[in-house]
Amino acid sequence: MHRPTGAMRTISLRQAWIALIGGALLLGLVPGGIALDRRLAAELEHQARADLAMTPMILVDRNAGRSDALMMRAKELADANGLAEAVASGSRSAALGIARASVEGPDEQPVVVGPDGQPWTDPAPGPEVVARTRGGAMPVVFGHSASVPYRLSLAPLRVDGRWVGAAGVLAPMGPRVAGELSALTRSEVVLLGPDGTVYSSTSKAPAPAVLADSAAAWSREADAVHELSDPSGRRYWAAVAPLGAAGEAAFLRSVSKELALLPELRRSGLLAVAIALVLALAVGGYLAARMTRPVQALSAASRRLTAGDFEAPVPTSRIRELDQVGRAFRQMRSRLEEKIRQLTTANRKLEDRQGRLQALQSELIQRDRLSATGRIITELAHEIRNPVASVRNCLELIHRRLGDDSELREFSSMAIDELLRMHRLSEQMLDAYRPLDPDAEVCRPATVAAKVADLVGMARNGGPSVTVRGSADLEAAMAPDALKQVLLNLVENAAEAIGADPAAEPGQIEIVVSGPASTDGDGPVRIEVLDTGPGFNEEVRSRLFDAFFTTKDEVQGVGLGLFVAQGLVRRHGGDIQAANRLEGGARFVIRLPAAGPSRGPSGTGAEAAP
Ligand code: ADP
Repeated sequence: MHRPTGAMRTISLRQAWIALIGGALLLGLVPGGIALDRRLAAELEHQARADLAMTPMILVDRNAGRSDALMMRAKELADANGLAEAVASGSRSAALGIARASVEGPDEQPVVVGPDGQPWTDPAPGPEVVARTRGGAMPVVFGHSASVPYRLSLAPLRVDGRWVGAAGVLAPMGPRVAGELSALTRSEVVLLGPDGTVYSSTSKAPAPAVLADSAAAWSREADAVHELSDPSGRRYWAAVAPLGAAGEAAFLRSVSKELALLPELRRSGLLAVAIALVLALAVGGYLAARMTRPVQALSAASRRLTAGDFEAPVPTSRIRELDQVGRAFRQMRSRLEEKIRQLTTANRKLEDRQGRLQALQSELIQRDRLSATGRIITELAHEIRNPVASVRNCLELIHRRLGDDSELREFSSMAIDELLRMHRLSEQMLDAYRPLDPDAEVCRPATVAAKVADLVGMARNGGPSVTVRGSADLEAAMAPDALKQVLLNLVENAAEAIGADPAAEPGQIEIVVSGPASTDGDGPVRIEVLDTGPGFNEEVRSRLFDAFFTTKDEVQGVGLGLFVAQGLVRRHGGDIQAANRLEGGARFVIRLPAAGPSRGPSGTGAEAAP
């Protein structure tokens, strides 16, 4: 990811989306989960307590049923054959024998009360219970011996309608009853005596002493649920139900067991939250990717646009706003491209114009300078030429009459040579700036070149060969004499350069005439003069066209040949360039405007010759 160097750290749109979804989920789920957890814990505790509070009612219901059954059993026993008579007759063993035979199973014990109201069996019913049987009642009561609580039912024994005693059944409430109650109430059951003695318990914990201590402090309100902890910190809820004189039954439930569902529920809840989070993030991530893809592509396209690439794909999107942004971007980009194209074209035109303007300007300056210099030089040349001719004529006359004085003859011939040179110089000066024949402004360069080749060939017998190539029909806008003078200069120079090295081959000079280079036929006529001489070094090349620049000795060179040639060519709207050939030798290229009504001047086009 691209990170700016500034202080602000940026994240991608996709990351922002995912963070948003994750954050929203966490913000929604965590407090919701905590609230739900608390609610669940409270609800579970409430349910467990309410359930426990119901257990005394179960005991009451059970007791009612059991009491009815016990009363029936007491009645049956009292009705046992011969029992009433045996009691009435005071026959204790007979009465106990009949009573024992009438009881069923180990959960029942016979109870017999003699005519004097004294119990014959143990544990014994209290005197008030016995008294109630005298009135004909069949009481069912709770009681306890030293080791066990019990329920007891007594029925009157009558002989001829007279009360002779009482008989009934005693059902001890031992561990079996506690077990039954435990199964019925889904609780641990502890049977407590009135003094807090633990008779029987289905639970090993809490220790009977702890339970007894705690129970002593409990209120005995109906539906009350109490809490106690054993020394190891285990918590219990407890409810108590009274068992009359037998004491009471305590129902215990371990808090941790009752709330055992809670961690399970928490785990499931956490798992559900985690799955929801992962799913939400996955779906959110997918959606974010889909939604951010066009934005990313847009961002990439804008980056590429900054780098000058106008072709980067811009996405379409089903999301209206994104699609609008994409469309706006495309429009902006194509307008920008169009504007840049227009600007580039305008710029190019401007550069072109500027270039031409500069060229024209320098051409004008050059022409101005040339015409000013030309005027002065022509006047000077004219003024010098005539006196020089007269002095030379006089000197030649003197030279002829000098006789045999060789020293004087040598001096005079040197003076004549110098005067000759001065004359040539003035002639060349005048040539360069002499007004040309206005009627002869067109020539065929190939024809002029052929004449020059003939002339030089004749003049330099045994010198380099001069050949002419190219289109004979081409016409250039220059007077034939002027072109002849220019070509003569170039060919003479070439011949002298070739001849400068006597050891070299005879050498070749070639004049090549070619037509307009551009495809529409417009452009200058080119005349190239190529030689096989030594060419020139850079310093010489840069000064070739300077006036009075020469590398030749005083007699041979004046340094005006190329200067005059360039002046002539320029006066005709052309230009001349010089360069070394790759294969050796020099190349001079003259470019002249083509002749004809449709041909314009070629300008000074600075073509770089190889
Ligand atoms: P000049 O011939 O009197 O020296 P130019 O102006 O004709 O004057 O030539 C100037 C110089 O250019 C010459 O002295 C010569 O050094 C160089 N030059 C001209 N043409 C050639 C050529 N074809 N090869 C080598 N050097 C040349």
